[in-house]
Amino acid sequence: MAASPHDFLSDTHWLRADVDHHFVRQAVAAGVDYRDHVELSAAEISPDLVRLTGKRDGEVIDLRANFVIDASGPAGFLAQQLSIASGLERTQTRSALVYSHFDGVRLMDDVVPGLREGPYPDDWAAVHHVIDEGWMYSLRFDHGVTSAGFLLTPRGIASLNSSMTGYPDQLWHALLDRYPTLADAFAVATPMMPIGFRPLIQHRLTRAAGDRWALMPHAYAFVDPLFSTGIAWSLRAVERLALAFETARNRHRVPDADALARYDSQIGKEADQIDLVVAGAYEAMAHFDLFAAQAMLYFAAVSFAEASQRLKPSDDVAWNGFLGVGDSVLDPLPGESLARLRAITKSRSETGSSDDRQAFVDWIGRAIAPRNIAGLADPARGNLYPVDFDALIEGHALLAMTRDRLIEALPSLRGMTRQPSFTGRQSRTLPRRPGSPILNARACELDLASTPKKGTDNGAGNSPEST
Ligand SMILES: Cc1cc2nc3c(=O)[nH]c(=O)nc-3n(C[C@H](O)[C@H](O)[C@H](O)COP(=O)(O)OP(=O)(O)OC[C@H]3O[C@@H](n4cnc5c(N)ncnc54)[C@H](O)[C@@H]3O)c2cc1C
Repeated sequence: MAASPHDFLSDTHWLRADVDHHFVRQAVAAGVDYRDHVELSAAEISPDLVRLTGKRDGEVIDLRANFVIDASGPAGFLAQQLSIASGLERTQTRSALVYSHFDGVRLMDDVVPGLREGPYPDDWAAVHHVIDEGWMYSLRFDHGVTSAGFLLTPRGIASLNSSMTGYPDQLWHALLDRYPTLADAFAVATPMMPIGFRPLIQHRLTRAAGDRWALMPHAYAFVDPLFSTGIAWSLRAVERLALAFETARNRHRVPDADALARYDSQIGKEADQIDLVVAGAYEAMAHFDLFAAQAMLYFAAVSFAEASQRLKPSDDVAWNGFLGVGDSVLDPLPGESLARLRAITKSRSETGSSDDRQAFVDWIGRAIAPRNIAGLADPARGNLYPVDFDALIEGHALLAMTRDRLIEALPSLRGMTRQPSFTGRQSRTLPRRPGSPILNARACELDLASTPKKGTDNGAGNSPEST
């Protein structure tokens, strides 16, 4: 999939420490009372107030608020405080993770010279390697550091010596030893932090909102990094909650109960959908043709959503379902696809016959056709998809637009909205202390693929269009 037409419009890998710092400065400039170094330990939610207690740099803090939004991620602060039950048993995807950040990872272009040229510089995008044990991500940042990790299926982890799970570096090297090309790419790479291992990365709760509280998606559920759904889903939730505050009827500007119920229900359906798309992709890893076809479900849903959102802006777009939830065509596809894949693989990685696989590939092409505005599932493309404006224009009717109207709207694909201006607003917080970490941010990365020109700074984070 075309990661980016050019650097200024590029999708980017986000080094969380830097990106969070940027957002904090924006929030402070907008007047947010920001406090770092806070470790919350208790929440009391009463009918008219939320009380939060904890420590800041060892000093007790005691806060009162009208409403609390929990962005504590898998730590699940409110889940613990409110004893929200786990909903993990209703999900399909299971994977373990071996990961770190590395210096000195070689470019795949150098490791495997003569690879077919893609529509963008592959090494600077999100490189995914599908392996028998699961898959590997390799995300290169501008400053040369690469975030890399193996996601392992239960079968994949069982194929390794179980005593190694206590020694992540041994796991890492055992996996590299099985794949000479990967071993070559990481031959002289040094980890910038200890290699980590997490035996199960999925988590899921049964409620995402209630009276005076809401969970951000990552506090509610996480599936897998395979399709990089995390941040996009989180940003959608931010927009929804902001709308819920904006449209609140009551005097205290706390979201109305129906808005919170809508948020809760929507986030739950979307967590299910992400799980089904990813579980299908794991099933499809049995054979590359199946995997490439299953990936089309994801790309069809996101390219259609992104094009619709930009070409036909609407105020309540934030409530549109993520990954096709609520879309009459896309909504049922991940569930149906998973069932079809399991019929082929028998849930034990069987590859089926070539007729079975072709039937699946053909079905995917037909199933996504009413939303395929990006020329996807085209065998002539050889699995390499550049941005295809011709396909988009030809697909105008799929977007319920005339050809002329779509051509006229094309510049909006650049996402050139005006930057908000916060000048004149008074910041209500103290400036950041020198050397203090921001938001406890861990160095996390997102594989929203970036395509800087090799050897140049792509300006990610400086450009308002970087998302
Ligand atoms: C292995 C992996 C790979 C991923 N890859 C991608 C990707 O490629 N693309 C993508 O879009 N998303 C990806 N994600 C998902 C992405 O990381 C999340 O969507 C994102 O981090 C959510 O941001 P957040 O700020 O809501 O939560 P988090 O980033 O989880 O931050 C939660 C913060 O809350 C703090 N906290 C917790 N408890 C407390 C407490 N009691 N008091 C005070 N602070 C507390 C934590 O220290 C942490 O700083 C990945 C996730 C994982 C695990």
